[in-house]
Amino acid sequence: MPYKFTFDLSKVPRVLFTEIATVSYQKGMHKSFLDRLQRIIIKFRIQEATGLNFSDAIVLLQDFIDLQAVNMIQRNKFLQTKKRAVFLSHCSRKYLDGRCKAAFDPDIPSYTCCHCSEDCLVNQGSQLAKTKGYDVFVVPGGSCIPKILKNTHYEGVVGVACGEEIKMFGPFLTSIGLAGQAIPLIKNGCANTVFNMETLMNAL
Ligand code: SF4
Ligand code: SF4
Repeated sequence: MPYKFTFDLSKVPRVLFTEIATVSYQKGMHKSFLDRLQRIIIKFRIQEATGLNFSDAIVLLQDFIDLQAVNMIQRNKFLQTKKRAVFLSHCSRKYLDGRCKAAFDPDIPSYTCCHCSEDCLVNQGSQLAKTKGYDVFVVPGGSCIPKILKNTHYEGVVGVACGEEIKMFGPFLTSIGLAGQAIPLIKNGCANTVFNMETLMNAL
């Protein structure tokens, strides 16, 4: 399920995400948390950078903070897992049409990247994850994840998708005892979407 708005935080200074991580520690402190969130939106000129109205900017950053908080809670459990997989969002492929040479297997269901373009984020993310010993799935939607997990025995998963999509499937992962790390997209829109490679590298 996509957000009802589009956003692009890929040009916003990376220090925004450092602040988000810091604020995640304060989540319990309701009043100061909201004040801090508002200050971040003003400081990083999120509305000007993204064209979002104030309430959508709040929703977006709140999701980043919530997901970061869950990542922190899950981190130790995740680090103890042995068998892990990465789920990449298909919308981050360089091409979504026939120029993408990835093979799609409906039985898994997942794309397998054929590395046709060096500057494709899915290509880079796939190769990075494989060198770290992860199995990689490039999924056309979150609904594929339960089907894949039913036939595998992973202990830990890293998921790259927009925050809305991650929020929808996070509780499912927790319910089956998997430790997860979430990488929310920094540019959405269901095509040419962007995730931060450094964030993925740190999570892996
Ligand atoms: S590098 Fe892989 S995912 Fe990207 S467009 Fe080519 S085949 Fe598709
Ligand atoms: S932005 Fe990507 S992950 Fe989010 S709903 Fe669209 S296709 Fe799915």
